[in-house]
Amino acid sequence: MFAQSAQHVTSYYAGTLSAPIPLHPALHERLEADVLVVGAGFSGLHTALRLASAGKRVIVLEASRVAWAASGRNGGQALLGWSCDMQPLEDSLGRARARELWDSMRWAAAEIRDLPVRHGFDIDYRPGSLWAAVRSRRAALLERARDEAAERWGYDRLRVIARDEMSEWIGSPRYLGALYDPEAGHLNPLKLALGLAQAFVRAGGRIFEQSRVLDYRETSSGYVARATSGEVRADVLVLACNAYIDRLDQELARRLLPVGTYQVATEPLDPEQARSLLPRNSCVIDNQFVPDYFRLSPDNRLLFGGGCTYLGGIPANIAEATRRPLERAFPQLRGVKVEFAWGGHLDISMRRTPDIGRHAQRYWLQGYSGHGVLPTLAGARAVADAILGDDRLLALYQGIRNPSFPGGERLAAPLEAIGKAWYRLRDTV
Ligand SMILES: Cc1cc2nc3c(=O)[nH]c(=O)nc-3n(C[C@H](O)[C@H](O)[C@H](O)COP(=O)(O)OP(=O)(O)OC[C@H]3O[C@@H](n4cnc5c(N)ncnc54)[C@H](O)[C@@H]3O)c2cc1C
Repeated sequence: MFAQSAQHVTSYYAGTLSAPIPLHPALHERLEADVLVVGAGFSGLHTALRLASAGKRVIVLEASRVAWAASGRNGGQALLGWSCDMQPLEDSLGRARARELWDSMRWAAAEIRDLPVRHGFDIDYRPGSLWAAVRSRRAALLERARDEAAERWGYDRLRVIARDEMSEWIGSPRYLGALYDPEAGHLNPLKLALGLAQAFVRAGGRIFEQSRVLDYRETSSGYVARATSGEVRADVLVLACNAYIDRLDQELARRLLPVGTYQVATEPLDPEQARSLLPRNSCVIDNQFVPDYFRLSPDNRLLFGGGCTYLGGIPANIAEATRRPLERAFPQLRGVKVEFAWGGHLDISMRRTPDIGRHAQRYWLQGYSGHGVLPTLAGARAVADAILGDDRLLALYQGIRNPSFPGGERLAAPLEAIGKAWYRLRDTV
């Protein structure tokens, strides 16, 4: 559905790389593997690295470049939990099994800090996130969320920041309170993805870029995937294509709605001014229905995002579309120069629940619904464990119901747009 190109988008993240990223070769032959992973974003790379480290022969085929899509462009906020929150997961799984999923999320939050250290790369990780309230009605949710996390999920590390303390956390009068999470944090997602790819290759894995999988078929001995100019036969197939799955698997595509979203990076600010915006250097997401999210980069830029479009496109002038919410959050930045502006697509599932599962030896990971930095890692662990013979975590995901969008993509997008307009309106009253 969306055009893919051979280059990373011009983002702040691409600008942080000291040298051009070497290209992995394209596939021009017929190869055999234990596992074929389609898609080199976080889902595919985490899964591939775990399997290669366990001794499997793994091939990754990527239509464009490693982390060309959401994984190389996102807000870098590594937040605990899923886009849907815990209630739909508890409804599907019951309290005890939902708690196991929650525990795997805490594992992911710790692993995202340890993994780069173990493999010798840097992701500019900074600890701490704030879930901030803009309206008093929503400020009341903060204490409830903290108490629920402690009582239902055994997570007692959240701290409510009261209105009179807020200036120590965010230099803006807009926010009436927040929930601070010390186990969450923020990072450079492109550095993470490239580090994962490098670690995977060191573990014996092979990556082919610019090698789109056109189709696949199940055979008596596994799966054969046909790519642009080559073919791979593998015992196990892992589909990790996110918002681009429509080209490959219609059944999985019916359960997703691709949504466009975008963000900007300002010019580097004076270090004092940057510190005054976010004195504790936490990342922030507000608790509006369509949230604003922002954080500082190591070179003192404000990275700010939030808008999304359900009808597929991304605004032609992202900087202009983002300036109003940015200056509403930080009026002191009126007129600040925006140096990078970029967008991407994410994969919304109908109930915002993760859609991770298996049919025979075909696995898939999708449905992160805009919140995937830690969920991709938790999901990849479940899939890799299952391929290695331990189904425990995957069985939890398989217990979550993920319906198809009614009316297919043609009707789903306008219906979602109407729904979003309604919730946005509610946010303003
Ligand atoms: C602008 C933006 C901001 C975001 N901010 C945050 C945030 O702050 N925190 C957070 O938790 N989440 C955030 N997200 C969501 C998060 O980035 C995603 O959930 C996550 O990166 C999904 O990873 P993935 O590997 O599943 O998919 P992707 O990263 O999209 O990777 C899929 C890959 O599959 C490849 N592919 C597709 N089809 C084929 C094919 N047929 N053959 C070969 N390759 C194929 C694509 O080229 C792509 O590289 C954001 C997303 C966007 C777009």
